[in-house]
Amino acid sequence: MAFTRATGKHRAPSRLTRKSARVAGIAALATTGVIGGMATPALAADEARTVGDTGLTQVIAIDGALADQIAAQAMAQEQQAEAAAKAKAKAVAEAKAEAEARVKAKAEAERKAKARAAEVREAEARAARAAERKRLTSFHLPVAGSYVTTGYKSGGSLWSSGSHSGVDFRAASGSSVVAVGAGTVVEAGWGGAYGNNIVLRMTDGTYTQYGHLASIGVSVGQSVTSGQQIGISGSTGNSTGPHLHFEARTSPEYGSDMDPVAYLRSHGVNV
Ligand SMILES: [Zn+2]
Repeated sequence: MAFTRATGKHRAPSRLTRKSARVAGIAALATTGVIGGMATPALAADEARTVGDTGLTQVIAIDGALADQIAAQAMAQEQQAEAAAKAKAKAVAEAKAEAEARVKAKAEAERKAKARAAEVREAEARAARAAERKRLTSFHLPVAGSYVTTGYKSGGSLWSSGSHSGVDFRAASGSSVVAVGAGTVVEAGWGGAYGNNIVLRMTDGTYTQYGHLASIGVSVGQSVTSGQQIGISGSTGNSTGPHLHFEARTSPEYGSDMDPVAYLRSHGVNV
C-alpha cells in the first residue's frame, strides 16, 4: 500500500509518523467499509468522501516518507556528532595520559639520577676513607720513589764501625723525607756523624732513624703519621753527598740496628 513505511532502521517512530499511521488506518477502515457498518453513516460518508476527494492517503504517505528521511538524517547527524565527541574525548584522554606518563617518566629519571649520584658520592667517600686508612696503617719509603744506593752492612772506610749500620736512599738535596710509619719523635737534632737526624719510635715498638738531613721539621714528643714529612734531605754530618741514611733499630741507640730493607719489606714496602 502507499502508506507502507519506508524500509530502513528506526529507533522510534516520530510523532508525525505515528499520527500519519493513525489517520491512514482510519482511512483504510473507511475504504473497506468497516466504519460504515459500525459508526454513524454520516461519519463514514464523510471519511470516505474526504479520502476520495482530497487524496489524503497520498499526502500522508509522502509526509511519512519525508518524516522518516528527516528522522534518519537527524539520527545520522546525531550519531556523527556523538562519534566525533567520543573521538575528541578519547584524543583528549590519550593526550592527558601521555603527558602524565611523560611527567612520571621524567620524575622517575630524575629520581634514578639522584640515586646514582648518591651512590657515586658514597662510593667515593668509602674509597677516600679506605685510602686514608691505608695511608695511616701502611708503611712508606722514607723518600718517595727512591731506591737503595748503598746496602746494609756494606764495608768501607767511611763508617767508623767498619760496616754500614743502615742503608742509603738516593735523595737529591731538598727532597721530602717522611716517616715510614706512624710513631713518636724520640730524637730530633744533631747526631754527630749522622748530621741532622731524627729517631722515631714506631707504634710496634721498633725504631727508625733518618740522617744527613738538611733540616728537621719535627720535635721530640711529637706524634707523626705514616708518610708525614718530618724533614728535608741533605748532606750534613759524615757524608760525601746528598742522600738519606736510614736505619731500623730495636732500640733508639746506635748499634741496635737491623736490616732496614727486610724491615720495610716486612711492612709491605716495595723496596
Ligand atoms: Zn748511610
